[in-house]
Order: sequence, then structure tokens, then C-alpha cells
Amino acid sequence: MIKDPIEKYNKIYIYSPHYDDTFLSLGGYLGLSNEFGKEITSIIVFGKSNNVYKTKLPKDKIEYASSIRCEEEKKNIDLISGNLIVWENYEANIRGHKTNKNSLKRYPYEIKLEYDKSVISKVVNQVRQNLVNNKEVLHLFPLSIGNHVDHLIVRQCLSKVENGFNIGFYEDLPYAIENSYIEKISDNMNSVLLPVNLEKKRLFIQNYQSQLAEKWIDDITNYMLSISKQLDIYFERIWLMR
Ligand SMILES: [Zn+2]
Repeated sequence: MIKDPIEKYNKIYIYSPHYDDTFLSLGGYLGLSNEFGKEITSIIVFGKSNNVYKTKLPKDKIEYASSIRCEEEKKNIDLISGNLIVWENYEANIRGHKTNKNSLKRYPYEIKLEYDKSVISKVVNQVRQNLVNNKEVLHLFPLSIGNHVDHLIVRQCLSKVENGFNIGFYEDLPYAIENSYIEKISDNMNSVLLPVNLEKKRLFIQNYQSQLAEKWIDDITNYMLSISKQLDIYFERIWLMR
């Protein structure tokens, strides 16, 4: 029997900037969540998306893409008997952001919170309310490795929230694969290696057809192997505030 290193938390909330971040990053541990008797809730912070791989999108592309992505997410959530909450904030490219590949290497990157002001204040309020109403829950946020603006917002909104909650961070995959960031993580955090169900994680990733996610499966698997530094042992890793 595998031991659950965070067994003292029965409930976990995972803040997923987009559809897919929860399972790409933590799907292996979530594949064990039924065995561990965990109640998992995935919160999609930017639930309005126009991002699916299709040559031609219909006129109502935001509704169309959001519903496809929501269905993909539900499929995975159902496989772990978890809960899905979708916050209807518009994701970055709908708000006019362009992908900036150069910013990837400058982790940790601080964005100016004045920018995107209205969406940020909304997210701050949503997160704060969730924390206050669920004090016994472990709340997991993205480290925002990869510096995607929506990931940064979800992480940085915590700086506007008071202390005293159970908070941890997960490593954003697939972004974490290409980034050496561990030495940059502040020393007020402890790393925790999470056991995984690798087969289930590979299946979860495969379910994101609209994101052509199969191409990430082997890279993410190798990353999980590199965490253990042992042959045939795979982990995911979270960082808990001390
Ligand atoms: Zn994302």
C-alpha cells in the first residue's frame, strides 16, 4: 500500500489557470485520489477560452471552445469522482495578450498587477472567498513556471490575500520540463514528493484532444522520472508553505 504524504488533508482545491493545468501537473497523484479517500476540487480560474486546435472555428468561438474544453475537463474529473468549478474569467489571449516565449527563462517573473486590473481584482476576490470559506482545505496554486500571464495572476493574487490558510504550490507542466527553477524557489517552502498512478496520468493527458496534448505525454513522464532520480519510480512534486 502506497502512503499518502499529505494524508492530513482530506480535501484539496487545485487552482487551474486553464482547463488542463490541474491534470497535466498533478494528474498522477489525482489518479490515486480515490484510493487515498481524497475529495478533489479543480477550479478553472479562466474558464472562458478561445483556444482549441481547429482550422475553422464557428462565430461563437469562445462559447464553442470553452464548452469543448469544459467537456474534456469533466471527463477527467469524473474519472476521479472529483468536483469541477469554473470561474468565467476570460483567458489571456481573449484579453489581448500575445504569447511571449522569451519571458519563459526569466522565472520567477513578476507582473505588474496594475495591468489587467479588473480581472485581477475579480480573481483576488474569488480566491480570498474560497480560502476563507474552506480553512480546513489544502489549496494548491501553480508556481507559474513558464511565466504564462494567467498562471502568474493566479499565483500572485495570493500576495493580496492575508495569511493563515493551508497553501501549497504545484509545478506547472509541461512548462517545468524546460526550466531550471528549483534554486529560485523561496526558502520558506518545503518540497513534498507525491506518489503517482502513471498509467492514469497518461490517460488524463490524452483526453485533452483539443490541445493536441499527446505530444507532451512522454516528456511529462520523463520529467516525473527525473524527480525521483531512480529507475522506474515516478513522482509529482508540490511545495508547501512553512
Ligand atoms: Zn495553463
